[in-house]
Amino acid sequence: MSVFDNSAFLNHESVHFFADQSTGLQAIIALHSTVLGPALGGCRVVNYVDSHEALEDVLRLSRGMSFKNALAGLELGGGKSVIIPPKDWGGNPRHNGSDRAELFRAFGRAVQSLGGRYIAAEDMNVSVEDAENMALETDYAVGLDVSHGGMGDPSPLTAQGVFLGMRACVKRALKTDTFDGVTVAVQGLGKVGWRLCEDLHAAGAKLLVADIVPETAARAASLFNAEVLDTDAIVVAKADVFAPCARGAVINEQTIGALDVKIIAGSANNQLSDDALGTALLERGIIYAPDYVINAGGVINVAPEAKGKVNHEWVNAKVLKLEDTVGEIIDESISSNRAANDVADEIALRRINDARASGRSWQSPLARKQALKQTA
Ligand code: NAD
Repeated sequence: MSVFDNSAFLNHESVHFFADQSTGLQAIIALHSTVLGPALGGCRVVNYVDSHEALEDVLRLSRGMSFKNALAGLELGGGKSVIIPPKDWGGNPRHNGSDRAELFRAFGRAVQSLGGRYIAAEDMNVSVEDAENMALETDYAVGLDVSHGGMGDPSPLTAQGVFLGMRACVKRALKTDTFDGVTVAVQGLGKVGWRLCEDLHAAGAKLLVADIVPETAARAASLFNAEVLDTDAIVVAKADVFAPCARGAVINEQTIGALDVKIIAGSANNQLSDDALGTALLERGIIYAPDYVINAGGVINVAPEAKGKVNHEWVNAKVLKLEDTVGEIIDESISSNRAANDVADEIALRRINDARASGRSWQSPLARKQALKQTA
């Protein structure tokens, strides 16, 4: 199949393939849209079966970033990048030799060659140190440590956004303003899930938890008085809220019929294995906070860095707004009887199309000149 016929290619502005012989770099950068601003999105390293799988992944993810950034009200477009690990990394995407730094520097040069149309950040198997190696070669890498002029770890902001978005759902489904006595099943106790548990526990929620690392789950049990469940059992556990904070596609053909909650609100990306499942959730009376809306705290946190700034106040104010944004999408979903993810996609697309139609596009020469004046 040709690249242009790939259904995930839909409306991408461009796709760039990079190879560097000396470091073994093989990478793809996909730019879905630069209408609202330079395309910002993470870079991931994954053991793909082949380059076709890598292409499919980067296309799907970059389109998602356009929607996420538009809905969060950021002056940023959407893009994403993937790196196929070199053969001599022995299939380990977290390979930690000195050649790793060289590979990320080569990737930084690739990013630089796009002249600012793409801004890279961390994603799966890419660390702050990797981003800092990219930044040695490009002006367009973000997600740097505070000590290097960055905004620091985005996870606490992501967790806060999930907490607030979940509260918007609880208000609507359970008709209460507090988490007192609300049962929340949290799958994944990593950087986001753990922080979310801390906040929910402090707010009086009863927690059910699961993690593939038994010690982590046991620690949550003792600290948060949580009940530990098996990693699959948690998906279909009886609770008020299910919070997927581990991996994608947990809502799928196999699990949807067995869900026993009133709300799904968590940080994991691509929670629905298929967009159509949003309608199935609506029909089952389950409120779904679209993943890319509720987990936007992380990208909001790096947005100032994309403009070469550090601005924690702006980030905090913007993350607080996520409660209203999630609430408005749920209200529109209920009143129009449409899936919440469809409502969110429509708002995001409208913002992009309106900017293009009204000549406010970042790509327009006038908008670029104005942006340059502002930075001068
Ligand atoms: P993380 O790697 O720190 O944590 C993931 C946790 O999930 C780990 O504790 C891991 O042991 C556990 N886990 C893995 N598979 C599991 C399974 N099948 N069942 C139960 N637990 C499992 O990741 P994170 O930064 O906390 O992110 C969590 C999710 O949120 C990811 O899907 C990520 O893409 C998404 N997300 C994170 C951020 C952020 O700011 N960190 C922003 C947006 C989206």
